[in-house]
Amino acid sequence: MIRKFLFVLCLAPLVGCGSEDSTITEDVLWKVAYDRKSKQAYLIETSVQLPVSNPENPRSQLQPALYCASCQKWYPAPPLEQLNRTPGAGKCPKDSGPLTIDGPPPEQKLSFRPEASK
Ligand SMILES: [Zn+2]
Repeated sequence: MIRKFLFVLCLAPLVGCGSEDSTITEDVLWKVAYDRKSKQAYLIETSVQLPVSNPENPRSQLQPALYCASCQKWYPAPPLEQLNRTPGAGKCPKDSGPLTIDGPPPEQKLSFRPEASK
């Protein structure tokens, strides 16, 4: 008598528990802001109007940042008025090199979204 054993392998699909990482979306655009107190450059969402107080340090203000390619550093951008009036206002304070809005994005990100999303 030949017995056939059928082994049925039930591979239950691993159903995720509806994990939606919707908090981090790739379609958010970032720009660089400079914190004068901590002398750090941060990534913030482009929808945030500058200058604005730092959400993690309300006593400090964030302002637009410009990048110096030779120093490889972000510097606070002078106000537009000053840029227009003062020759050289848009230059690096260290080496008078040109400052640009393009540069490697800083690692720190600041979130302006209220924590009340839960
Ligand atoms: Zn420089």
